[in-house]
Amino acid sequence: MKSNTVNGIQLFFFNSLARYICLVHAVSTRIGGISPQPFASLNLGLHTGDSFANITKNHTALCKALNVNIRSLVSSSQVHGSKIVYVDRQLQSKAACALQHAFKGYDAMVTDRPDVLLLIRVADCVPLILFDPAKKILALVHAGWKGTLAGIAAKTVDELANRFGSDPGDIRAGIGPSIGPCCYTVTEDIAQKFYRQTSYADNIVINNTAGAIRLNLWEANMLQLLGRGCRKSHIEVAGLCTSCNSHLFFSYRREKGKTGRFGLLAGLSF
Ligand SMILES: [Zn+2]
Repeated sequence: MKSNTVNGIQLFFFNSLARYICLVHAVSTRIGGISPQPFASLNLGLHTGDSFANITKNHTALCKALNVNIRSLVSSSQVHGSKIVYVDRQLQSKAACALQHAFKGYDAMVTDRPDVLLLIRVADCVPLILFDPAKKILALVHAGWKGTLAGIAAKTVDELANRFGSDPGDIRAGIGPSIGPCCYTVTEDIAQKFYRQTSYADNIVINNTAGAIRLNLWEANMLQLLGRGCRKSHIEVAGLCTSCNSHLFFSYRREKGKTGRFGLLAGLSF
């Protein structure tokens, strides 16, 4: 990824996606907003304890930095599930209030509509972007351990293929800043779920000599995409750990739940 600061707001961009002129995307950071600690400062999280006035101003400043209309923002309440919503013309027109969740219970959103700015909010969970430049289709995915275990990234590739006829070999993907294999310790029970329910647990469960178990969610989501026919050369992994870089990103784990959310935003044809 590369970083750029606009109006004091620090943003990250996937190198591999920046060249598509029909695509706007960015990963926000905690730099450049107005919220006080522990939400300092560019908090986008609606149910974090921060004031709605602060959150509104942060969204407004972020959209201004990206030169997009705040009324085009569309987000869902995320529930660590694997349901996918297609934001079509009808749903786009219903998403009246930009800051509130337009939908409930979806952890992935896909669209072929111009001028919809999809937004996933995270603090340690993995945000993914999938973009098919051939069909002009976009998807954003929220994948913590539960969503990863449920295969939400793979299911979203299937959705692009089945609904829009995307060839997975055409899809460009970005795996955004999130808690890394360096810091993401989990219980034995969670590790066992991956051994039971996935074919790739050996590649993502890390046992160290002290008995701590860590998960590599970046690799897990990468393997899901490769398993669906995406090309490795088309997948960019940010490799930025939110816990190691809590000066840049909100980290739910590191800050023991009292923190904000940063966002992955993307839209077509702005
Ligand atoms: Zn780390």
